[in-house]
Amino acid sequence: MADVVVIGGGLGGLAAAVEAARLGREVVLCEAQPHVGGYATCFRRGDFRFEASLHLLDGVEPGGSNAAVWEALGLRERIALVRPEEMRREVWPAHDLEVPHGLDAWIDALATHFPDEADGLARLSELCVQAQSAYVRDRDARLAGEVLPPMRGLASLLDATAGEVIERHLRDPQAQAMFSALSGYLGLGPAELAAVPFLSMIASYQRDGGTFPIGGGQAITDALAEQLRAHGGKIWTDCPATGVETARGRVSAVHTPRGRIPTRDVVCAIAPTLFYENLLDCGPPRRLARRLERLTLGTSVVKLWLGLDRDLPDLPYEVFLRGAYTLRIEAGDPQHMTLVLQHRVDPTCCPPGQGVASLTVAVEAEPEEWTVERSQALAEAMLSRARIELGVDLNAHAVARSLSRPATFAHYAGHPGGTIHGSRAIPSQSGPRRLPIASPVGGLHHAGAWTYGGSGYLPSLTSGLIAGRTLCGAPS
Ligand SMILES: Cc1cc2nc3c(=O)[nH]c(=O)nc-3n(C[C@H](O)[C@H](O)[C@H](O)COP(=O)(O)OP(=O)(O)OC[C@H]3O[C@@H](n4cnc5c(N)ncnc54)[C@H](O)[C@@H]3O)c2cc1C
Repeated sequence: MADVVVIGGGLGGLAAAVEAARLGREVVLCEAQPHVGGYATCFRRGDFRFEASLHLLDGVEPGGSNAAVWEALGLRERIALVRPEEMRREVWPAHDLEVPHGLDAWIDALATHFPDEADGLARLSELCVQAQSAYVRDRDARLAGEVLPPMRGLASLLDATAGEVIERHLRDPQAQAMFSALSGYLGLGPAELAAVPFLSMIASYQRDGGTFPIGGGQAITDALAEQLRAHGGKIWTDCPATGVETARGRVSAVHTPRGRIPTRDVVCAIAPTLFYENLLDCGPPRRLARRLERLTLGTSVVKLWLGLDRDLPDLPYEVFLRGAYTLRIEAGDPQHMTLVLQHRVDPTCCPPGQGVASLTVAVEAEPEEWTVERSQALAEAMLSRARIELGVDLNAHAVARSLSRPATFAHYAGHPGGTIHGSRAIPSQSGPRRLPIASPVGGLHHAGAWTYGGSGYLPSLTSGLIAGRTLCGAPS
């Protein structure tokens, strides 16, 4: 018997479990893999530690928009954060921009290149702050057990894409594209990406700061797992949930290879499409079924990690290579790629004087399309672009490597197609339109990247924190 069974040990599941255990519930967390963490993990190749997912956390430093969540989960005192010297470098066909920390500093840098667009840039900057404030108000209300009307004050933006909003304020296509550079963090081009999460994300990375935790995503996972155990919670790894029983409209038990666990509450912190289709004995309630059928998948990535025999001191932590000024970005196009040098923010990932690089391109979540051969060809194209645009032959310095494709992500985190963002961040599936945390089935709650808050470390942690509080009926 457990008060709460959490299914899935990614960040959303861990956060829900920690909060429920902190509030005195007996919690069992079931994780299919041998380790918890889901995407928030790392792996080793020889002397090198490769970060599986995280580029940067947003807004977790004191005063930042996500600091309250970070602190509530006990992460502030357990995790050391580092700020990269500059946010990133962006290499465009006719621009090479060093992006500074700070929203105003970034807007000023863009305005230097596009003086005629200064007013539009200022208006967009203001919209970013408004979108973020609306999100924070909404989130804090949910953390306190209330729900506000959807995105009060920003309802007019809910149907818009990021591209449409940018086009309303900027005329120059080059300025439009450069303002939209961060859209890649949500895996979509601005022509498709919903405006609300895009604008809010800009404020929390650019204004509140992007940071990296020493030890990477794994350090966050380890800190949460440690707290869960300290509050008396149990973690069962190698233990996939195989079924969920209901009785009189409420969840009543979870089946696992280690036996049947009677329970009053369940947190579904895995892909909800698979949960309702394969695990819940009664399937989804009709209203939810229609919604789940219509859900479209977020993108995945092809990602190449390299252990390097040198540390490439002339390059910053993160470089966006953008081959064209466009709002419509095709997934799988190496013209839009990212290079990260992990050792620049976390020297513990490799021996002194050496380095860890990763190169990433977003691709559709279609494992059968991204065969080993096609993924290798994309990796070669990324290496070639880095050689041409940055003058660095990463291949020549590589002494360890690993390549991931959608099938890899599907294998390790169990998401359909290997999506790394849950459902696609388009207007009909974003903001208050994302899957709600409370399910219509009694005692069942959702957490993780598919639910309210959206994809990413902080949104997943936030949904878990809200789920843990809600199921305990405890606002704070
Ligand atoms: C390459 C990459 C780069 C990223 N970059 C960033 C970034 O820079 N910043 C950022 O904020 N976010 C980033 N993200 C996104 C972020 O990692 C995710 O949004 C977040 O970690 C998802 O958390 P989650 O709670 O949804 O769980 P997931 O990480 O999806 O984990 C789900 C867990 O459920 C388990 N599971 C599945 N089925 C079952 C079952 N039946 N029973 C038990 N367990 C089950 C899986 O094994 C897995 O451990 C990135 C992701 C990737 C992959």
